[in-house]
Amino acid sequence: MGELNSWLCVVSCGGTLKEVEKSEGSGVYECRKCGVVVKGEEAEKLQRELGLADQFFKRGRDMLLVSAPTSASAGGKEADALRCFQQALKMRRAKLSPYHKAIAETEDAIAEVFCRLNDFASASKHCAASIEILTKFFDENSMVPILPSLFPFI
Ligand SMILES: [Zn+2]
Repeated sequence: MGELNSWLCVVSCGGTLKEVEKSEGSGVYECRKCGVVVKGEEAEKLQRELGLADQFFKRGRDMLLVSAPTSASAGGKEADALRCFQQALKMRRAKLSPYHKAIAETEDAIAEVFCRLNDFASASKHCAASIEILTKFFDENSMVPILPSLFPFI
């Protein structure tokens, strides 16, 4: 589980950061690969950027909540929500390890929007991306039985 849910190294070495010290402020992080230490302003900047991605994600969620999936006027809010989720995904993919639950959550949300827009090909693509991440968190055998009911369009 070491590299799951980690932040990507700030010098783009491909490694991920681990928290080496918890502190009142932003904490201290060290790259598992190149050993670079991230703390203070740099760690705060990373947290701010991820916080912004969270806001995009939340905004997208809020838009979906006010838009009933079956309403005849559906489409406008979904398109707006999709843009928010895609922005959140872009930011999260730039900062987080490929196997991060926030990325799975975003892929899943994008899949849901495509589903509402009746674009099942795109939905299944994003759904598959989400599942690929989630299987890293669970025993793959325990995932299989629930798949057909959760994701009937795969
Ligand atoms: Zn590094």
